[in-house]
Amino acid sequence: MDQGTLNIVVTGKSGAGKQPRIDVLAATYGLRQLSTGNIFREYLGAFKQVRGGLEAAKFHRGDGFVPDAEIRAALAPACGPAGVDPDAAVLGLKAARYVDGGRFVPDDITNALFASAFRAAGGKGLVLDGYPRTPDQSDFLLGLARETGSRLDLVLLVDNEDEAIVARTIGRRICPNKDCGKVFHLEFKPPRDGKYCTACGSEVILRSDDTEEKIRTRLEEFRAKALPAIRRLVGAGIPQVVVPGNLPVFSDEAVRESVLGAVRPVLGG
Ligand SMILES: [Zn+2]
Repeated sequence: MDQGTLNIVVTGKSGAGKQPRIDVLAATYGLRQLSTGNIFREYLGAFKQVRGGLEAAKFHRGDGFVPDAEIRAALAPACGPAGVDPDAAVLGLKAARYVDGGRFVPDDITNALFASAFRAAGGKGLVLDGYPRTPDQSDFLLGLARETGSRLDLVLLVDNEDEAIVARTIGRRICPNKDCGKVFHLEFKPPRDGKYCTACGSEVILRSDDTEEKIRTRLEEFRAKALPAIRRLVGAGIPQVVVPGNLPVFSDEAVRESVLGAVRPVLGG
């Protein structure tokens, strides 16, 4: 199969170990990672560069937004000098309306941002990460793929037990020093004296997202929404491959063998 033309969806519970698998797929098949986290950062960044004193809420009406042309007209004067794409700024404003207030982002906004980034990336040679996360997003993705003539070649599910994820995540500690950010684990990669960054000496912290309550909420969300989203893709005929998130020996080579052994029968190569 041609390098760089595949599209692969990688999914799994938060903390299941997706990133090492994504790295293997990207390196082996010449793919780029398209992750919703980065997409949101990019579009929010575009808006923030040109927002001036504008409040996103000002453009919100009922359960939607005023027409795009109106938002664009407000943002466009600042876009030219800043070198920001006005369409990206419009999408960023809509996302900011929800993200800034810590509110749940509705599917139609997530879909619009994803579609824009997917098209900008040429619609091929991508590892999709963090998308689709709901059945509606899956339906949207299937439609977008048809519309753009893109294939969806494979869903890779990184499978991991809830308890293994909880144990691994609550032991994680990070260095709060912005210039450092080293990651530790109380059991597997302990900080000095159980508390201090081995690189810069700062006292390490538990990320606010890594509390047991938040982890369990994310696990529940995965079961309630992301799993049905994947079933929707599989139901549309996209092959699914499952790989274990925990390996007896965790090394780059072991991850590579585990992933490629599973996907080669489907993708060839
Ligand atoms: Zn540090």
